Amino acid sequence: MPAIPSSKPYRIGRSKTGLGLFATKKIKKGTKIIRYFGPLLDSKNKKHDGIDNKYLFEINNRWTIDGSIRKNIARYINHACRPNAESDVNSRKRKVVIRAIKTIQPGDEINYDYGTDYFKIFLKPIGCKCDHCEAKRAKKRAEERAEKLRLKLKAQKKAEKEAQKADKKAKPAKKLAKSKAKAAPKRKTAGAKTAGSKTAAPHARGTGKPTKTKASRTTPLARGRKAKAGATRRASSM
Ligand SMILES: [Zn+2]
Repeated sequence: MPAIPSSKPYRIGRSKTGLGLFATKKIKKGTKIIRYFGPLLDSKNKKHDGIDNKYLFEINNRWTIDGSIRKNIARYINHACRPNAESDVNSRKRKVVIRAIKTIQPGDEINYDYGTDYFKIFLKPIGCKCDHCEAKRAKKRAEERAEKLRLKLKAQKKAEKEAQKADKKAKPAKKLAKSKAKAAPKRKTAGAKTAGSKTAAPHARGTGKPTKTKASRTTPLARGRKAKAGATRRASSM
């Protein structure tokens, strides 16, 4: 790691994504922190076109700083979507300076926004690890957990309500089932007039809710019996 004079208000330290640059002293808003420097690459130079690393800082269409050199301490500064510093580019002088846009406290990690191109190419595919994005992801996860819990509780309530409904309907449902069960054999016996009709008839009377067909079928039978009874009575009285 390159040595940093103690007069400087920063040090290289461990960050979430590897190494980072951290304030060792209070850095006031607006002050220059460090220069981002390295060999200038010219887009018109074919040899320079082949150079590719993640420390290339594009000044304009023509000039790019190759910040991968060891002496460029500013290359340790990580990206943040809500940073406390910015890259101040002087296109004419082809110079880049990192400047505090907030007052930075000792111990705080220094960061600046690398820009949308860098974000799209390098950070979006792996997910930005800056505090702002981490907090956003944590919030999203918390919301997803809350939503899952809400749906689970809703499903539980629904199940409970349905169980209660089923309980209330349990008795009427049995009655329905019985009357249906009786209705079926009756139709059979009415047509066939087998021994089954004798057993089916008393049951049908017991339900207390005779259908039209039931009544029309039972009445002739009852009349027949009454008539028979009357006849025997008459016979005995004579
Ligand atoms: Zn971010």
